[in-house]
Order: sequence, then structure tokens, then C-alpha cells
Amino acid sequence: MKNLHSLVYSVARAMYRQDPYKVTYAVTYQCNARCKICNIWKKYVQVPQKKAEELTLPEIGAIFSQFDLSWVSLTGGEPFLRDDLVDIVSAIEECSPHLSLLTIPTNGSLPETARRATESILEETRIQNVVVTVSVDGDELLHDELRGVPGLWKKARTLYHMLSSMENDRFSVLLEFTVSKHNAGYLDRAIRSFGADYSQVVITAAHSSYFYRTELHHLHNSSSAQQVSQFNASCPRYDPRSILSFLYTRLLEKYLKGTPVPLHCVSGRSSFFLDPYGVLYPCITMETPFGSLREDSLHNLLKGERASAIIHRIRDHKCPGCWTPCEAYQTIVENLPRAVIAACTR
Ligand code: SF4
Ligand code: SF4
Repeated sequence: MKNLHSLVYSVARAMYRQDPYKVTYAVTYQCNARCKICNIWKKYVQVPQKKAEELTLPEIGAIFSQFDLSWVSLTGGEPFLRDDLVDIVSAIEECSPHLSLLTIPTNGSLPETARRATESILEETRIQNVVVTVSVDGDELLHDELRGVPGLWKKARTLYHMLSSMENDRFSVLLEFTVSKHNAGYLDRAIRSFGADYSQVVITAAHSSYFYRTELHHLHNSSSAQQVSQFNASCPRYDPRSILSFLYTRLLEKYLKGTPVPLHCVSGRSSFFLDPYGVLYPCITMETPFGSLREDSLHNLLKGERASAIIHRIRDHKCPGCWTPCEAYQTIVENLPRAVIAACTR
């Protein structure tokens, strides 16, 4: 991310005003992959008619105009399967004067569609930091096996190189490697197979969640912490812009070794998860919604007894607990000294 100052200003402003500054919005639950570590793809296989209930463009504008966000992450499913993705970004930007960071994770299955959409987003908006992350789980053989789609690795690699050639002051592409027991020992091979190095990679861990419909204890063994430890040992640390990812991955290693993260999570207060039908959750992990933004205002949803119960549950560490990048970065930002101490002590 190259225009960090605009993001820092925007987030600091929101924190000062005690406003939410980040929303992770699943634009669709359509997905053309068949991953072993996530069951989102099953949603429309099982109930295809639900797709027609996804938010429309005017509804998206009406919902986002109730926030004043600094950071929006458009996830899925596979976000580039939504053919109005560029219009969605424009609608969100129009009602978000302080929007400074847009992140879009992709499985890389639609190289030409994703390249054109990214180009249009850069041309048609003025967002200062746009980051696309392309998933990679292993070498070609393992990646296609874990994603359940022959030929997906080749497409993801093609997209990564297309987007790398478009990098500029406002735009970066990164690889996202998700550790699980299924890809033990493949971190280095995966990165090299894309012709990338560790500075171009973000690492995360497969998580159990309401959103992914998975169970953590099925996803990991001690190899997951070892892979993160290898990443931490190999990752460059001299760039101040990577301090948050350094703290995140140090704490991820501890989390996978069984040490809970000793920070107060800010989800449900500074950041939220919005599902494709307009239902607002504190985060991608908790199954308890505040309610529907199709049916009620943000103000009302956050003022009621239900909201108060959710916030107390999080504050009292009675939520499921997690350490995913979707949620952890905000918590690090708002607990920076404690995060540094927790990451740097044994
Ligand atoms: S991890 Fe991503 S690509 Fe895989 S099934 Fe889930 S949403 Fe689809
Ligand atoms: S720790 Fe995880 S599960 Fe708990 S509120 Fe935060 S993001 Fe959600």
C-alpha cells in the first residue's frame, strides 16, 4: 500500500469521532471454486433461488450512505462474478468521502474479467489505495486439488501477472496464502511457483466461522503454526508500511500454537460484516446479526438491546474468538502498544 498517509488520516479521524471505519461486504455468495477449507460455494448449489435476494445497486448505495468509511473490503464468494462490481465500487465511493482503501480478494478464476474490472475501478474512482489479493494454496497440483477446480492455479497465476504489470501509486496486487493442515510445507513452493517473493505475500489461516461454515479443529495441526513461523522468519521487516502485517503474523503464529490474542477486539464497533442480503454482523465469525439494513437504519440497529448484548459478548471475550486478517488489523491499530508487546514477548 503506497498512500498510507491518506488511510492513517482517514482512520484516525473516524477513531476520534468514534465512527465505524471499515466494512467487509460479501457482494455475492456465488463461487466457482470448490474449496476444501470453505463451504461458501455450497450455498447456491443447495438453495439457488437465494441469489435473487442479493442487494441491488440502489440498496447498496442506500446502506453505505449511512456510514462514512475509510476502508471497504469487497469479498464473496468470488467478487468478480458479480458483473456490476465496478458500479458497486462507484456507488460506495460516491457516498464515502473518506474512503481510502479498497481491498478485493479473488480466487483468480476470471483473469480477463478481473483485469478489466480493476482497470475500470482505477479509472472511474479516486480511491487512493486499491489492493487485490490473489489466493494461492500450493504448487499447481496441490492448489487445484484444494480448490477443487482443474486449471485454477494457471488462471490465478495469469491474473497475478496481469495485475502486477498494472501496479502504480494507487494499486497493488498481493498473493494470499491460507495455511491449513492440507498445505503443510508448501508455502515456499507456492510463492516461488508464482515468481513472487515473501514481500508480495499475505499469510492467513483457515478459520472456522459462521461465514465459511467450517470447523477450526478440522483445519489445522502443528504444521500450520510452523508455516507461519517460516513466513515470519523469511519476511522482510525493514519497511514501516508492513508493521501491521508483521504484528498480525507474529500474533497469528502464537494463536495457532494455542495462545489467545490478548487484545480487545473492535469488531461490532469500528468494523462490521455485511452479507449479500443486507444483514449486518459484527464480524465474519460471529453468527449473531445486529439485524437487516434492508429493513432498518444503521442507527436503530446499533442502538437496540440486541446490539448491546452483542457488544457485551465481544467485550467479555464470549464471542467465538478468531484471528483473521479481515478483523485483526483494526484491532491491532486500536491496541498498538499492547499488540507490539504481545507480538514481541515469548
Ligand atoms: S475460499 Fe473463496 S474461492 Fe474458495 S469456496 Fe470459499 S469463497 Fe469460494
Ligand atoms: S475476536 Fe473474532 S469472533 Fe470475536 S468479535 Fe472479534 S472478530 Fe468476531
